[in-house]
Amino acid sequence: MIEINGTRLWKSLMEMAEIGATDKGGSRRLALTDLDRQGRDLFQSWCKEIGCSVSIDEMGNIFARREGRNPNLPPVQAGSHLDTQPTGGKFDGVYGVLGALEVLRTLHDHNYSTESPLEAICWTNEEGARFSPAMIGSGVWAGIFDLEFGHTRADPEGMTIREELERIGYLGARPCRQTDVKAYYEIHIEQGPVLEAESKTVGIVTGGQGCNWYHLRLHGMASHAGTTPMAYRRDALHGAARIVSELREEVLQQENALVTVGTLNLQHDSINTIPGEVFFTIDMRHPVPAVLSGLDQNLRNLVEKVCREEKLEPEINLIWEAPTVTFDQECVGNVRDAAKSLGYSCQEIVSGAGHDACQMSHVVPTGMIFIPCKDGVSHNEIESAEPEHITSGANVLLHAMLKSAN
Ligand SMILES: [Zn+2]
Repeated sequence: MIEINGTRLWKSLMEMAEIGATDKGGSRRLALTDLDRQGRDLFQSWCKEIGCSVSIDEMGNIFARREGRNPNLPPVQAGSHLDTQPTGGKFDGVYGVLGALEVLRTLHDHNYSTESPLEAICWTNEEGARFSPAMIGSGVWAGIFDLEFGHTRADPEGMTIREELERIGYLGARPCRQTDVKAYYEIHIEQGPVLEAESKTVGIVTGGQGCNWYHLRLHGMASHAGTTPMAYRRDALHGAARIVSELREEVLQQENALVTVGTLNLQHDSINTIPGEVFFTIDMRHPVPAVLSGLDQNLRNLVEKVCREEKLEPEINLIWEAPTVTFDQECVGNVRDAAKSLGYSCQEIVSGAGHDACQMSHVVPTGMIFIPCKDGVSHNEIESAEPEHITSGANVLLHAMLKSAN
């Protein structure tokens, strides 16, 4: 079986990581900065070296194309992003872009021609660290956001995506909208601990979990800590504490469910005043839509019960909902077949994070491949992956793409 050149892929990852290298061994390449431009330029030059044609769309997404025997067929694509978190690692996103490039390089080495054209893609502003929301380049392409929305997103200094695309020379002419695509694949580090803990080389990603964000506010009564007997209190913090802990117990009963209370604010915030009002947030996730809506109902019932018992008035707002993502059966099958025929240990896994592949999956048959990362750490300068796993994941990508392209 034809295999990718792992040494070359690793060397390219390390070379890309030098652009915006940080003291602690990571990278800082925020979207559409001068450093991002340098990373994009390097990627483009590598693509052109192997004879790919490169086009840039109105959102600055880069498409490097290796022609197929039948140029009229829709392309098989693979990609990810080169932008990083402010203190990001060397692999998040970059691996997916340079892995796709390595597939094209390998086919070039072997003079191998595919029936369908192949494309390696770098999507703009996946991280959402400089411009919110995340995954915006792939999101506009997939029709989840319109172009005007994409162009007018601004960073904290007020610079818009369109202005910054123009400034760094990446405002392309190619329309940023969905075209006919045979299949889209993305390789990525897992960004979680599962594959490493299970000693697996490859994760066959079946989809992404759904996520609900809530704002909760409990209204009680602020009163004197010394003069209000316990039975007379309407303590909003006590209500919130019960919800936080009872919700956790409930979620623990449900396999694969996740709940996080990441924010909690007291309105009065005083050592000798009973908290009269508390605000907190809930992030709740599950890969199965029906289970997630069951958890939503349980949360609402719990809040109502606790507030009745504690004599509080609740306000609960679902402020954001990300739907669950199910990847294409055939693409998932191609990833599984590739991993098995290459002899890699593998298991099915659901993505905990959002990826460009999640946006693509709404309009294009999509599959994803994970590899382990050290201690499951990501969005951190110490993010690390084994060269052996980097090679394995790219080999799976190669063979999944070939399956779709021939
Ligand atoms: Zn990423």
